[in-house]
Amino acid sequence: MDFNYTPEQEAYRMRVRKWLEENQPPPLTPEEREHINEDLLWERNKKWHKRLYDGGWIGLSWPREYGGRGATFIEQLIFQQELARLNLPMGVNVLGIIMTGPALMQWGTPAQKERYLKPILTADEIWCEGMSEPGAGSDLAAIQTRAELHGDYFVVNGQKVWTTIAHRADFCQLFVRTDPTAPKHRGLSALLVDMHSPGVRVQPLRQITGDAEFNEIFFEDVRVPKENLLGPLNQGWQVLLSTLMHERFGISETIGGSEVILTQLLELARKVEINGVTAADDHEIRQRLAQFAIEVTAKRYNGLRALTKRLKGQPPGAESSIGKLVSTELSQKMTKFASRLLGNFATLERHSLFAPDGDWLRRILQVEALTIAGGTSAVQKNMIGERNLHLPRD
Ligand SMILES: Cc1cc2nc3c(=O)[nH]c(=O)nc-3n(C[C@H](O)[C@H](O)[C@H](O)COP(=O)(O)OP(=O)(O)OC[C@H]3O[C@@H](n4cnc5c(N)ncnc54)[C@H](O)[C@@H]3O)c2cc1C
Repeated sequence: MDFNYTPEQEAYRMRVRKWLEENQPPPLTPEEREHINEDLLWERNKKWHKRLYDGGWIGLSWPREYGGRGATFIEQLIFQQELARLNLPMGVNVLGIIMTGPALMQWGTPAQKERYLKPILTADEIWCEGMSEPGAGSDLAAIQTRAELHGDYFVVNGQKVWTTIAHRADFCQLFVRTDPTAPKHRGLSALLVDMHSPGVRVQPLRQITGDAEFNEIFFEDVRVPKENLLGPLNQGWQVLLSTLMHERFGISETIGGSEVILTQLLELARKVEINGVTAADDHEIRQRLAQFAIEVTAKRYNGLRALTKRLKGQPPGAESSIGKLVSTELSQKMTKFASRLLGNFATLERHSLFAPDGDWLRRILQVEALTIAGGTSAVQKNMIGERNLHLPRD
């Protein structure tokens, strides 16, 4: 088997690289750096999203009939790698693009596809994912948020938690219990909920980084039109599973970025000193970096398994859990290793005059969440054990 990219794919990479280098957002001005906050970064990212969209880079692997570019998953992967190489974000509607969009394509009615898909790509409508609740995280079948059908409307009551970007979202792909008498996996449904509806209240939660990127959402007698049901009534579990597989595939292929972290660690090791020598010349540091390089390579080859399936036109399956588990654990381990290289400098916030380039403190704190979001590592191991290795059920 040939694991190398074809000359055409390499040429494609060069075209992507050139476009990104020519169009990437300018660095923060000293004044912006001083007053850096979430709103400022959001506005910058929104402008970047528009530029990516106008350049035809958003929804690359979405089919053309839905406004995408119909690119292959390899081209999508190359694009992600090049974005990560320059440390650039994917734009502002990541969950809409990797989760809601594919779920709408799989489960949506023609009218829903027509109504919702394009504004996801343009980011004129931002989406969040309402799955987790205080009593339902790993065990999503325990969802308690209720939706009762009253004539032409569902009436929704309940609470979600950890909902990324809900404070900026226009819509939520919301999972609710529509039949409390059915066994727990059989009484769920998915709804497309307008976040500006009366009765929706969003409460941001502050994270250890100081940012507030995720939220609690409270629903009190929220009316959702009947036509906003996504997929069949009471079969929301199937919609949920396929949405999660898209997320895990998306996380393993896009967000992990372990190749880029490795490159950054190598650069850092060439710059800083440990025990009076350049870190890159220190025996123990070299061993650790070599081990990371081996794991990154193994992760890349393993990722080809999930990719091959997508190239054959199949939806992502349980093998996405392997990618999610390996890439997030590895990214976490490598990012934390930066503190070994930086010593006390790793504790400096990005505002500090002496803070090392790379926003390392924030990243070290943020990376903790990688192995929780999208399903914890323990849960991925259960999935791999049951679905890939066919071990007895948990
Ligand atoms: C940054 C971030 C963003 C997120 N964004 C969203 C979002 O946009 N939308 C959304 O709906 N949710 C979101 N989440 C929630 C996330 O999906 C849940 O936190 C996650 O699924 C774990 O659920 P929990 O927090 O309820 O933990 P629990 O399920 O209570 O788990 C607690 C601990 O028990 C372990 N555990 C649980 N069950 C098992 C088992 N069967 N076997 C072995 N160990 C087990 C877990 O691994 C964990 O260590 C986000 C989380 C984070 C950190």
